[in-house]
Amino acid sequence: MTGCGANLDGAFGGLPENVTVISRPSEDTPGAVAGDVGAIGCVRADARLERTRAFVKIQDGCSFSCAFCVIPQVRGSSRSRSTVTILAEVRRRVAQGHREVVLTGINLGLFRDRDAGVRLPELVREVGRTPGLARLRLSSIEVNHLTDELIAALRDTPAVGRHLHVPLQSGDDDVLRAMRRRYTADGYLRKVEPLSDFQLTTDVIVGFPDEDEAAFARTLATLERARATKVHVFPYSPRPGTATAQADRIPAAVKRDRSARLRAWSNAACHAHWLAKLGREDVVLVDRPGRGYGADYSPWLLDAAVGELVPVRAQAVVEEGILAA
Ligand code: SF4
Repeated sequence: MTGCGANLDGAFGGLPENVTVISRPSEDTPGAVAGDVGAIGCVRADARLERTRAFVKIQDGCSFSCAFCVIPQVRGSSRSRSTVTILAEVRRRVAQGHREVVLTGINLGLFRDRDAGVRLPELVREVGRTPGLARLRLSSIEVNHLTDELIAALRDTPAVGRHLHVPLQSGDDDVLRAMRRRYTADGYLRKVEPLSDFQLTTDVIVGFPDEDEAAFARTLATLERARATKVHVFPYSPRPGTATAQADRIPAAVKRDRSARLRAWSNAACHAHWLAKLGREDVVLVDRPGRGYGADYSPWLLDAAVGELVPVRAQAVVEEGILAA
């Protein structure tokens, strides 16, 4: 048993004797497994070769301490891969036929290659220079890390799509403070304001302890003002060992109701975003038969070969996305 859950004290107690739980940082796990099962143990397979999109991990762990989050415990504080290794992996992925690279990690803004003096903005510029790379995205970015340098790097790099996933979690300042999120709703709005030409998607936790109806309404208002188009909704559930592990005061029915209202808001916002594209042009990277993503990561429906970049014009909007003319 490996993975971040295996690092959570007691989470996998009481398993049969023939199950070994490896509670180690991710970078030590392959060696531990290989030592346990022998030479056949760990091969880093070049999986997903058939896919258009490659996910390249640039860092692991998190040095923040959000009250609800178990990740710093199970994955440890932030560590970054070296720039040289990341660039080599990106080049290899592109040579294998991947057209799009998504830089992933737990908290990308914490990426630091101290030896090379490279932070995330420089890394974006470096990766963006990879010959043959058509699209480059960040999996998500904390709002505190949306610096002028990063925004400039995103804008200056032609491969970077006009999409950012910036977790909000709540639009109520009291809830944000209780979550230890290090920003206010207005602070969030100020940071995303210069990015109005980017599609903004986000995460929200509903039913955090003491989130009342007024706080929830402030979250909706903040999403509206931020012009977010898609919300990943997480009904709050306490995690062992976190600051709010013992606090779960909002009834399940209230969480369900707020989650449903937020999902309905998200669907409507997404639909409106697609409708605004009617008659407009875009370039779609086809990532599976009949479907692909435009420059701002909106889904398009079209008939073209997988892996192709196809100029399109929006003809209609259907439930699954934008129909290309
Ligand atoms: S929610 Fe994100 S930023 Fe906060 S501690 Fe967890 S991983 Fe870090």
